[in-house]
Amino acid sequence: MRIGFIGLGNMGAPMAYNLAKAGHTVLGFDTQTITVKMVEMAQTPRDCAEKAEVIITMLPNGKILKSVADETIQYMKEGSIFLDCSTVDVASAKSVAEIAKNHTVIPLDAPVSGGIGGAKEGTLTFMVGGPDEGFIKVKELFDIMGQKAVHCGVSGNGQSAKICNNMILGATMIATCEAFALADKLGLDRRAMFDVVSTSSGYSWSMNAYCPAPGIGPLTPSDNNYIPGFSSDLMLKDLTLSQIAAESVDADTPMGYLAMTLYRTFVEQEDGAGKDFSAMLPRFEKKNRS
Ligand code: NAD
Repeated sequence: MRIGFIGLGNMGAPMAYNLAKAGHTVLGFDTQTITVKMVEMAQTPRDCAEKAEVIITMLPNGKILKSVADETIQYMKEGSIFLDCSTVDVASAKSVAEIAKNHTVIPLDAPVSGGIGGAKEGTLTFMVGGPDEGFIKVKELFDIMGQKAVHCGVSGNGQSAKICNNMILGATMIATCEAFALADKLGLDRRAMFDVVSTSSGYSWSMNAYCPAPGIGPLTPSDNNYIPGFSSDLMLKDLTLSQIAAESVDADTPMGYLAMTLYRTFVEQEDGAGKDFSAMLPRFEKKNRS
């Protein structure tokens, strides 16, 4: 396929490279000067749009996505696909889908789970909203960039799945970290705590696969001085998006709200900015109840 890839940052660059390595022709565009092996760079987003069957975007937020959609979709061929893999608010995903449909372009919102490591290794999970026909057409691209793609229904549902997943993740990571800090104060050895919880009803991905305690469980960012991984800043972004969505449909999400508040304090007032989201553990270690 001829693919236009817009947004070649931490995630987009390795995803574009994996597509090119698998034999697809990839034309890239970024507002920064970026080079990606095997990817030719275009002068404008319009160049990508005119030459590609599929446009993939991997951008910071909904506002930028909408401006890129405005600059590209009108130049895309009828029946081609606009595949957004960024994490954005549900409303932006739906409005970009409307723009695409008005130009007989097929929209897919397909945010990812798996982070920079998953992007490099081609092991991302895609959560996809949009028409069946589009999902089927780009399935082979999902298979190159990831290990799993779940079709979640209509446009916007990919973003809905992503923010629900990350709301669970944020709250679970906080619960795991505060439990470790409590165990410390109770004099319970961290390894014993891990061995029990990881095989008991408190187990979770945060405990079992991404243990926030250094030297325990699998190798994680906690073993590398909490260098991300998945940053607290991005967790704050996703928890904020989940609260915007909850507000828009009047859903009661008190744990999600509290998780957002804790990550906001951590990132904006404490020393959490730029650290992995599991660095909540050293934060709790320093705290007491008051
Ligand atoms: P990044 O900031 O590294 O990359 C974004 C890229 O978009 C940059 O290279 C930037 O120059 C480019 N860009 C900005 N405006 C542009 C425009 N108008 N036209 C073209 N390019 C433009 O961010 P990232 O970490 O690669 O994340 C991208 C998306 O993936 C975000 O929505 C993020 O929430 C999501 N995500 C990130 C991770 C992660 O671990 N980094 C994990 C899952 C999802």
